[in-house]
Amino acid sequence: MGDVTVCLGFDFDAVSVWIHGYGAENSPTKLSRGEYGATVAVPRILDLLDELDVEATFFTPGHTIDSFPERAGDVHDRGHDVQHHGWSHRHPGSFESKEAERADVERGIESIRDLTGEKPSGYRSPAWDFSTNTLEVLRELDFEWDSSQMGHDFRPYYVREGGSADPDEPYDRGEPTEVVEVPVSWKRDDWPPFQYVSGADSQGGAPDEKQVFDMWREQFDWMYDHVENGVFPLTFHPQVVGQAPRLRYLESLIRWMREKPGVEFATIDSVAQRF
Ligand SMILES: [Zn+2]
Repeated sequence: MGDVTVCLGFDFDAVSVWIHGYGAENSPTKLSRGEYGATVAVPRILDLLDELDVEATFFTPGHTIDSFPERAGDVHDRGHDVQHHGWSHRHPGSFESKEAERADVERGIESIRDLTGEKPSGYRSPAWDFSTNTLEVLRELDFEWDSSQMGHDFRPYYVREGGSADPDEPYDRGEPTEVVEVPVSWKRDDWPPFQYVSGADSQGGAPDEKQVFDMWREQFDWMYDHVENGVFPLTFHPQVVGQAPRLRYLESLIRWMREKPGVEFATIDSVAQRF
């Protein structure tokens, strides 16, 4: 790997994010936004990644794999890494029991195994957060890494267990486990700045979309100059970044990062394995 590693991650939620994030079972328009991600956006993204010859990680809910098997198959066949993102894209804290949460994770593993022939090594929570049971479930099911937390910006670290955040006591961080964390950031995610959702609490919709990509370029440049062996994870949603002219801006950003000496693009799995 290079001195600096860029991890392009695509949360391939398709329709699942609308069902569980926005209760859209009866909203054909919202569901169609998810369909767009699978049917229109992903092919464009795969073509761009082919053209630039970079490998990415696709966090793909089992619901997406089982709903759009050909498209998920394209992602795998064209050389990208498919990793776990729940089966149902439910918030881990919304399950009524640990058993129910574990069953959803296991169902997601089976969808990926059917697609790739292999068990996923990594997990990204659909909510970018854990329940009180998630870490235990991941360890029981032999996950090697997670990519949902925010304890660093540009370096992997070990997920901790057994801490407590009692409001009346000093914070106890707990002890590190063997599960590697490759952290994410809302500031390196396309959904918050771009995705307008009618009636939702927080409204995306950047007036100057290029400015968002410029912000990511500035973040990358800062890391490049200040963090030795930095890791730069970016999160995109096909249904968001696949829209014009965002893919053009993404292409420029990738070319910008790639032109710097010592920069390599890698999957999140390979970063976690190296750590
Ligand atoms: Zn998601």
